[in-house]
Amino acid sequence: MTNIVLFGPPGAGKGTQAEVLKEKYQWVHISTGDVFRYNIKNNTELGALAKSYMDKGHLVPDTVTIDMLKAEVEKNPDAKGIIFDGFPRTEAQAEALSELMDRMNSQVNAMVALEVDDEVLVQRLLERGKSSGRPDDANEEVIRERIAEYYRKTDILKNYYQQQDKYYGVDGVGSIKEITERLSAVIETL
Ligand code: AMP
Repeated sequence: MTNIVLFGPPGAGKGTQAEVLKEKYQWVHISTGDVFRYNIKNNTELGALAKSYMDKGHLVPDTVTIDMLKAEVEKNPDAKGIIFDGFPRTEAQAEALSELMDRMNSQVNAMVALEVDDEVLVQRLLERGKSSGRPDDANEEVIRERIAEYYRKTDILKNYYQQQDKYYGVDGVGSIKEITERLSAVIETL
């Protein structure tokens, strides 16, 4: 089983690339943001809780996010590989993922990060907001808060995976195809 953490700030292109890689390698794609949005659409209790954080550009608390992630992984016992998109976002989440993988006799093979300048991210997210229907893409203040939250809590995970020799940075600016090629070049060395 090959497990990849697709990493990068909001707007780096994780969701787009995860969908391409899922088809290419026949892996399962788990996006915690998508699962939260699904719950919001279906008016669940989890959705209401998550929305109160997401609308402000803040992270949903770890315990809630970790329990949800575990349930998603457990839905896919026969996966050949999993692409984690938007998880882990804190050190506690990274630890929980490592324990979960241990219990499955598996591991995170790599964190592959899409590197994009902050101002490019803001412009991309504002553009996406015109059609995504995501309230957190519609407002520049919330977009900047999401990026700030990334630097406060998430960016440090680079060190976490670097210490395990599992960190790979990839230029996230270019066409979708070019970026897939860069990601695949890393994945195929694993
Ligand atoms: P995304 O779709 O990955 O951009 O996530 C959208 C929003 O969902 C984030 O701004 C957070 O509020 C929430 N979210 C998604 N994944 C996580 C996570 N791993 N931990 C905490 N909050 C998350």
